[in-house]
Amino acid sequence: MAILLKFIKFKGKGCRLSRFLLMDATMTAQIIDGKALAEELRQSFKARVETLTAKGHKPGLVVILVGEDPASQVYVKNKVNGCLAIGMHSEKIVYEKDVAQQVVLDKIAELNADPAIHGILVQLPLPKHFDEEKVLEAISAEKDVDGFHAENVGALSQGAPRFIPCTPYGVMKMFEKGSVDLAGQEAVVIGRSNIVGKPMAMLLINAGATVTVCHSKTRDLKFHTQRADIVVAAVGKPKFVKGDMIKPGAVVIDVGINRLPDGKLCGDVDYADCLEVAGQITPVPGGVGPMTITMLLANTIEAAERKAGIR
Ligand code: NDP
Repeated sequence: MAILLKFIKFKGKGCRLSRFLLMDATMTAQIIDGKALAEELRQSFKARVETLTAKGHKPGLVVILVGEDPASQVYVKNKVNGCLAIGMHSEKIVYEKDVAQQVVLDKIAELNADPAIHGILVQLPLPKHFDEEKVLEAISAEKDVDGFHAENVGALSQGAPRFIPCTPYGVMKMFEKGSVDLAGQEAVVIGRSNIVGKPMAMLLINAGATVTVCHSKTRDLKFHTQRADIVVAAVGKPKFVKGDMIKPGAVVIDVGINRLPDGKLCGDVDYADCLEVAGQITPVPGGVGPMTITMLLANTIEAAERKAGIR
């Protein structure tokens, strides 16, 4: 087995220390392929959709879009098409950006009462004149497939989740795929948003990891990441996590999606830099991204299964 000495510099506050690590020269991280896993899961969902449809509970998702934000239009299209591709019912409802909030609230009330609809999703962000929280809370907690309703956030924090927010749910599936045993592991989540960071931390706690949540006010981020067995980056800053911030062999999950000036996508992790330090790593694109919509489909199917009494 070829051996090399890998030189890694650690810069601390007021001091600089260096150390050599003994590594296999051929060692690069195992890649957790989110695209392949997403496809595998979507195929496995088809049989559940067929069973539900045969029982008269074809899973149905409605996506509400307000305005013409190009990125949101793409996300909504992908969500609706993802449903249709596996035999679910899905439709989008599009409003002009200056629509009155009450019009959207009335539509949500109508959908809450519609037995053919199991999931309702309002694409964020909403225009400025909307009270985002009020709109999200108007969705029935039983149909809140994004998992953003306070009741569902509470259920998750109590360790008995009903709907898990799609992106962290996808990350948990990736841990499963990579056979990452979370119990007893030191996990660092970078980012504390309601959509990713906080629910991710909660899921890791529920799985038995010891969790540190870092954010923009964290004093010494590297101190935390360097001792972590698992790092989840949800920062929104391209190539923010460098190889010298990672413990050799750590599992590195990159949630970030950033568009570079040349139009290419990149994550919050400097992939090339971390590839030879991490034990397992997710790429961007083709990592967490494809898992998010997949778990939206999963949540909608789960909602329909609950309604049908088979879950
Ligand atoms: P937010 O902007 O809501 O949150 C970013 C977090 O990063 C905040 O908690 C912020 O801290 C923290 N942060 C910012 N700067 C630093 C820093 N220097 N050091 C440590 N922490 C810092 O973003 P989201 O959580 O919504 O998204 C994060 C990333 O994930 C984005 O790139 C987004 O595009 C991507 N994303 C990808 C999805 C997917 O499907 N793959 C789905 C959702 C998001 P503070 O709270 O103190 O401001």
